[in-house]
Amino acid sequence: MKLPHTGRALADAAPVPYWLDRPERPDPLPPLAGTHDADLLVVGGGYSGLWTALLAKEADPDRDVLLVDAGTCGWAASGRNGGFCAASLTHGLANGAERWPGEIAELERLGRENLDAIADTVGKHGIDCDFERTGELAVAVEPYQLAGLAEDAELARRYGHDVRVLDRDEVRAEVASPTYLGGMWDRDRVALLDPAKLAWGLRRVALDLGVRIHEHTRVTGLARDGGALRAATAGGPDAVPGAVRARQVVLATNAFPPLLRRLRAWVVPVYDYALMTEPLTPAQRDAIGWHNRQGLADTGNQFHYYRITADGRILFGGYDAVYHYGNRMAPELEQREATFTALAEHFFTTFPQLAGLRFSHRWGGVIDTCTRFCAFFGTAYEGRLAYAAGFTGLGVGATRFGARVMLDLLGGEETPLTRLDLVRRKPLPFPPEPARATGIHLTRWSLARADAREGRRNLWLRTLDRLGLGFDS
Ligand SMILES: Cc1cc2nc3c(=O)[nH]c(=O)nc-3n(C[C@H](O)[C@H](O)[C@H](O)COP(=O)(O)OP(=O)(O)OC[C@H]3O[C@@H](n4cnc5c(N)ncnc54)[C@H](O)[C@@H]3O)c2cc1C
Repeated sequence: MKLPHTGRALADAAPVPYWLDRPERPDPLPPLAGTHDADLLVVGGGYSGLWTALLAKEADPDRDVLLVDAGTCGWAASGRNGGFCAASLTHGLANGAERWPGEIAELERLGRENLDAIADTVGKHGIDCDFERTGELAVAVEPYQLAGLAEDAELARRYGHDVRVLDRDEVRAEVASPTYLGGMWDRDRVALLDPAKLAWGLRRVALDLGVRIHEHTRVTGLARDGGALRAATAGGPDAVPGAVRARQVVLATNAFPPLLRRLRAWVVPVYDYALMTEPLTPAQRDAIGWHNRQGLADTGNQFHYYRITADGRILFGGYDAVYHYGNRMAPELEQREATFTALAEHFFTTFPQLAGLRFSHRWGGVIDTCTRFCAFFGTAYEGRLAYAAGFTGLGVGATRFGARVMLDLLGGEETPLTRLDLVRRKPLPFPPEPARATGIHLTRWSLARADAREGRRNLWLRTLDRLGLGFDS
């Protein structure tokens, strides 16, 4: 059903990520020119790369760390996400418990430790990113979803998590939506933050610690160079050639075309979209409650995530997860009218009392989906290069853990992290095209159908479930 006010609500939305469209955005650092040496070269200046550089310097201030990004630090997924910073390292407890039953208790402990450490870094370095540990409220909007919430709550309690199950009236008392039938509030395992300000803050801390950062510098290829690796670079608008000769390299390039061929089998770029409203008036705020400022997510396969910002806007994203044939990525794919219209309609269905509210921004970005929905890790070039990828839609917190794993892998010694099955085992690969696109489209179609049929999964999804394969955002 097309609601009458969605077109008007979207009419003036700027086609750029809200978070990046602010005066706090730092000026770009100069591109790399000439040939440079480094102990550690970090390729990619999103959270993965920034945490790697920062943790490497904290552990050893004498280590010469150089980071390059093809754009500016945090311009990609790290600066345009929903800002849900979850403790889970496994794209949710249920996914982790199913895949690593013998290890999940330890993974949950490590995840909490990771979230605590992010909070500590934010506090210690005065990173002004509106970090609020308000938790996440999962809501059922169809009766069949209530059983799933109860199961999730039982599983969470088994691992000692502080969760509260809410009935229809209780959940609507938290947040006033006529669509809510029940909820589960996971109270301290998710923080909300301002994603771009986190990226810019980590960049500032890395610079303060002595990391050399060059922006608008793309690594175009890697090769052995004696006992080191040589990264060829192209810098600035004229793609001035340069090079870095480094003893060790970390690849933190997420969904972008990988510099290691083998990563193409494990990661597909998937577009995820979000809307941001203008700030709500006090009357509009009163009309929705939401005084505890939790992150919200509904629980269908095609789910929405939404949250309030520090200045009282609502970010509303998710639902569609769009793959383009041949792993295609392009700036024009960051805008998708059909998805924005659907999101706007779903927004006003969720909050009919906000009719008349307008969206100020609409955007999309790419996530690095893998078949197990959480990061995998590895090394190449006789252990001189480490990578982490496949965070899918839950990398805001997990990328710090990924950075720790990559540094441990480069250390060459076995550590409690490198011994984990999660770290040692790879996901099942995606097939090459055209089977890749066909399989993903069939899976998306089946997931939408399951949502429309009270969660009932068809033969295709049940087969994928048995193989431990899937598609998520
Ligand atoms: C719309 C959207 C909403 C999301 N919401 C959430 C959320 O609420 N919670 C959550 O946990 N996760 C969310 N995510 C996912 C999360 O943002 C990512 O998992 C996380 O930011 C990944 O960080 P990263 O550093 O690995 O990747 P990125 O931030 O993508 O950084 C990779 C960097 O590598 C650089 N690069 C690539 N190739 C090269 C090269 N050859 N040379 C030099 N540089 C290169 C790129 O320029 C880029 O800056 C969302 C993602 C999107 C797109």
